[in-house]
This record gives sequence, C-alpha cells and structure tokens, in this order.
Amino acid sequence: MEDGRVDQTSRIVVIGAGQAGFSACAKLRALGHMGSITLIGDENHPPYQRPPLSKGFLLGETTEERLYFRPPSFYDEKGIELRLSSTVEAIDRSAHKVMIADGSEVTYDRLLLATGARPRLLPPEIGGELRGVFYVRNLADITSMTHCFRQAQRVLIIGGGYIGLEAAAVSSKLGLEVTLIEASDRILQRVASPETSQFFRELHAFHGVTMLEGVGIRRLAGEGSHVHAAELSDGSVRPVDFVIVGIGVHPNVELAREAGVDVDNGIVVDADCRTSDPHIFAAGDCASFPWKEGRIRLESVGNAIDQGEAAAKAMLGESSGYVAKPWFWSDQFDVKLQIAGLSTGYDNVATRHGAGNAISYWYYRGDELLAVDAMNDPRVYMAAKRMIEAGKSPPSAVVADTTVDLKSLL
Ligand code: FAD
Repeated sequence: MEDGRVDQTSRIVVIGAGQAGFSACAKLRALGHMGSITLIGDENHPPYQRPPLSKGFLLGETTEERLYFRPPSFYDEKGIELRLSSTVEAIDRSAHKVMIADGSEVTYDRLLLATGARPRLLPPEIGGELRGVFYVRNLADITSMTHCFRQAQRVLIIGGGYIGLEAAAVSSKLGLEVTLIEASDRILQRVASPETSQFFRELHAFHGVTMLEGVGIRRLAGEGSHVHAAELSDGSVRPVDFVIVGIGVHPNVELAREAGVDVDNGIVVDADCRTSDPHIFAAGDCASFPWKEGRIRLESVGNAIDQGEAAAKAMLGESSGYVAKPWFWSDQFDVKLQIAGLSTGYDNVATRHGAGNAISYWYYRGDELLAVDAMNDPRVYMAAKRMIEAGKSPPSAVVADTTVDLKSLL
C-alpha cells in the first residue's frame, strides 16, 4: 500500500538473522501480522545470542543450542521463512526486490535492514592474515579458535574494550598466559571513566593478566603462515601462540549505501526506524538514530531488541517513536558489570561503595545523571536505571552516601 498503512498480507523481508532481525520477526507475528515474513541471514545457524561468545560459550560452559533464541521449529510454527547461508548482495528499490547470492530474488512491501556490524580487521601488511589471528563476532569465529585454548600457552589480546577484556578473562580462566595490549592511554577509554578502567585493571592484574596500556601492535610475525611473535609499539617482541583481536567494529551499511539509502556512521533512520526510503527500515548495530541533539549508533543487545521491535511496529504502520534506554553488561572473572544509561559527555563521577566487593560509579554532566557502572551490585543498577529512565538526577553527594536507600530517591 502506498499511503503508509500496511495491509495484513503485505510481504516483509528482513536482512540479517541476528538479534534485531529475530526480534522484529517475532514481534511482527505477536502484533498479528498475517503476511509473509522472510528472514535472510548469511550465517548457517538459526538466530543466536552473541554475548556468550566472549563469555560462557568461549569458556566451554554453554552448548551451541543454548545460544539459539528459539529452537529451529519456532520459525515454521510462526510461518517465518528462515533462509540461512544466504547473503543478500543487492537491493533493487524500484522493483522492491532483494537479490541473494544464489541468484534468487525476494520481493518486499517493507524491508528491514538488520545487518549488524563486523569486526575491524588488522591490516594484512602487519600480519593480520596470519593463521592464529582470531576475531570474536560469530559462532564460526569461536569454533575456529577453540583448539587453541587446548593446545596453546600464550595468547595476545589486542584491544582493551569489553570484548578484549572478556576474552582475556576467559583465556586466563582456561590457564593461558595472557597479555592484553591497549593502544590508547587506558583500557575502556572510549566507554568508561578512569575509575572503571582502574577497577578492571586491578581485577585482571589480580588474575595474572599482563596488561600494557598505551602500547599498540607494530606487526605480527609468522613462522610459515602461523603467527608466532608480536612486535609491540614499545619496541618489545613477545612470543605468542595465537592472537585475539577486539579493536571495534564497522556497521554493515554497504547494501544500503549501494542502494542509495542515506548512510552516516550507520544507516540513517528516524524515530520510527525508517530510512530515507519510506519502504525500508533499519535497526540494531547498523542503524544511526536520533538521540538528544544528534544521532547515535548503539552496539548492544538491549538496543537491538527494542529497536527491532519498534521497527516491526513501524513496518505495520504504527508510529513507534523509538527512544533508546541504553543498558549493557559485561562478565569478567567473578565480576558482573551492569551499565545503565550512556556516559558520553560526563564531567564528574561519584562513587558508591556497596557490600563486599560491590561498587558503582555514577556519571554526571553538571548535575544531570547520565549513566551508572555497577559492579556486582544489581540493586544499585536497577535503581539507577529507573532514575535515568525517569530523568531523575539525585545529587552526587547523596548517591555516594551509603546510608541513603536509593529506593527512597525514586
Ligand atoms: P548482529 O547480531 O550482528 O546480526 C546481524 C546479522 O546480519 C549477522 O548474522 C550478519 O552476518 C548478518 N548479515 C549482515 N549482512 C548480511 C547480508 N548482506 N545478507 C545476509 N545476512 C547479513 N551486547 C550487550 O548488550 N551486552 C553484552 O555483554 C554483549 N556482549 C557481546 C559479545 C560479543 C562477542 C559480541 C560480538 C557482541 C556483544 N554484544 C553485547 C553486542 C550485541 O551482541 C550486538 O549489539 C547485537 O548482536 C546486535 O544485533 P544486530 O541484530 O544488530 O546485529
């Protein structure tokens, strides 16, 4: 239909069978959509959770099936055509078709781009293509590296963001000798305060991880085609058996760009997840959406679920007015970090000590509470999340006072 409403028999196609694509399809059926839904993914697994890939699954504590959002039968039951191992190569916007690598085409009335992101790669000229260099994005990445955890002794982790830190924690738990390098001044610099960086620095040091901050990679050297040493920016050379790289991601925007859909550090969408083409929507890691005075692209499960569901509503013609409520978590050793809000733009941080090893850091811009990092303190996290979502900003001295019950501030 051309008037913005969508009839119950409209054909909806979703590219990318990850968190956002899955959430959108499930929501479409929950909202009663009767038309066809085709979910196209280039991996050969039913949609699955990624967070355990750098946590329990990497550690060997979880089976592959437990990562699946739903058993494979779910898709048949819900009448969702799941096309796996299928890469969409192009979108023909005038014919409303997507072209798949096997030569087939699928026609849509509404199209959702949920293509996610892919890891930034180490360039080949510094050894990025050597065997023994791994990334942590897909199930296939993990299965390709599990033998190293059994056979190798020394791992180098490149990148001190959450993925690198989680991979370091798992490697250490599995008995490997772990070195983590971070090119900027401190780990988590892009996403957290110096206090949070210090917390995790100490945690990793306690468990024997060698952490080198302000140190980058100059080049990886191979013996034959397999990595065997790393030359670091401080001039030192370290023997390594394998390398895990976690240096950020690129959003998968090429399909959109080549189809002439607006892209700007992500596929540009409005608050209804609609792109510059009114028949095409985007959600999850690949989408750049309005946030405060500007735009933002988030890489988190919470955003992929909520935005995928918002896109489902919008594709059925309901205005969704997506407002992100950012939250995130990370597991390292015996610490569970939970983050509410976004700390971007903070200028002061308050500390609240909890029982045992619980601690939380509260990020403020002036008097405005922006975000909280809560370590081993789920109650503080929940209270903080509610405050942030309600736009409440208790004074920093009050939240730092452990005699104050946070619930009384809600
Ligand atoms: P994805 O899950 O990446 O799915 C996109 C899918 O689209 C992929 O399968 C991709 O292969 C496919 N695709 C791309 N292009 C095409 C094409 N042309 N044709 C067909 N298919 C295509 N978030 C948290 O909140 N907490 C965590 O603790 C956390 N831990 C993480 C740990 C790891 C190791 C990783 C990798 C991510 C983690 N995240 C975490 C982030 C979270 O998993 C992502 O934000 C979320 O998966 C994004 O969902 P998405 O659907 O946008 O993208």
